[in-house]
Amino acid sequence: MASERTLILFKPDAVQRRLCGELLGRIENKGLKIVGLKMLQVTAELSKKHYAEHVSKPFYPLLESFITAGPVVALAVEGPEAVSVMRTMLGPTNGRQAAPGTIRGDFGVSRQMNLVHGSDSVEAAQKELAIYFKPDELIEYQPTLGQWVCAADELS
Ligand code: UDP
Ligand code: MG
Repeated sequence: MASERTLILFKPDAVQRRLCGELLGRIENKGLKIVGLKMLQVTAELSKKHYAEHVSKPFYPLLESFITAGPVVALAVEGPEAVSVMRTMLGPTNGRQAAPGTIRGDFGVSRQMNLVHGSDSVEAAQKELAIYFKPDELIEYQPTLGQWVCAADELS
């Protein structure tokens, strides 16, 4: 089991609905480590870079309007299998289909306004982290409680 880093975004709906504290709490309570965090305004150019795989899709124009409509909070999150752990915590894209207990299932009823982005693979995470964070904005530190969150042999 490898320690991974993933890009998480609290989207403009999460910021406007004042859910950042609640969402950050879920990530901290899970035992994952925050190694980068900032608020920023996504521009049209940044949106096209981040959502390159979706730019030619019919829903893209509305997605760009949404993601640029207000500030987002970007986080770099680290932990064992952090990419898939976070995706499981998010639930499926459409909040109407997401199970209770997941972030999208607990807080939303929309396919577009689904509150949180999470990278979908280790490769995507590396690409997306580089889009949102400079290397010196990602902080290395030893969390004091680390030894009570995961056994040493679970991290390679
Ligand atoms: N989205 C949308 N309409 C769609 C599909 C997706 O507005 O029909 C938005 C939604 O906010 C989603 C994002 O585009 O989170 C990226 O879509 P993807 O299929 O990659 O979903 P995700 O990986 O975020 O679950
Ligand atoms: Mg995706």
